[in-house]
Amino acid sequence: MNEEPYLNCPICKQIDLVRKARAIYETDFSTTEYTEILPTPPGTNWAPLPVSRQSGGPSFLARRLSPPPKPTLKTETSASAGYVTWLLTAAVGFIILFSSSSASGASPALVCLGLFLVSPIIASIVQKNSVPQNIEQIKKENKDTLERWQRALHRWDQCYYCGRDGVVFIRGESNAVSPEMMPTILYQSTT
Ligand SMILES: [Zn+2]
Repeated sequence: MNEEPYLNCPICKQIDLVRKARAIYETDFSTTEYTEILPTPPGTNWAPLPVSRQSGGPSFLARRLSPPPKPTLKTETSASAGYVTWLLTAAVGFIILFSSSSASGASPALVCLGLFLVSPIIASIVQKNSVPQNIEQIKKENKDTLERWQRALHRWDQCYYCGRDGVVFIRGESNAVSPEMMPTILYQSTT
């Protein structure tokens, strides 16, 4: 492994305690022992002896080195919801205005014009985003979010952990951070 000097820890310059973050995440398990007191069987009055059991799971370090979680994406329905609100407001406003105006004798054309000017304002009061959000815009944002995450995931796969210094670093890079700060090196732009 001497032909791969870029795997050396940027802090201590050693390689002996360096392990791949993914390997730690996937294989580092810890077990804790606990004692279970069993209930007295029904109809008897003897107490069973306590039983020693083990529970296991990813170690504390493994959990700290877990990959970046998949981001939640914006749903396109939230965009169409704004549009539906806008249409509904327009429809309700139209009915109210039309029924009251036919009594007072105002021109229906004028009412329609006024309605189309007023309804977006009402919609903006009902919903914070007055203009229905562009679905294409949301699709693009989601695509960017996913691509950023996939890049971060790819960088996570190149993360190494030095047990001597307790730091994470990406092979060939000089930054070394605590596992809690791992997202800062995963999401940093390298271009
Ligand atoms: Zn080190």
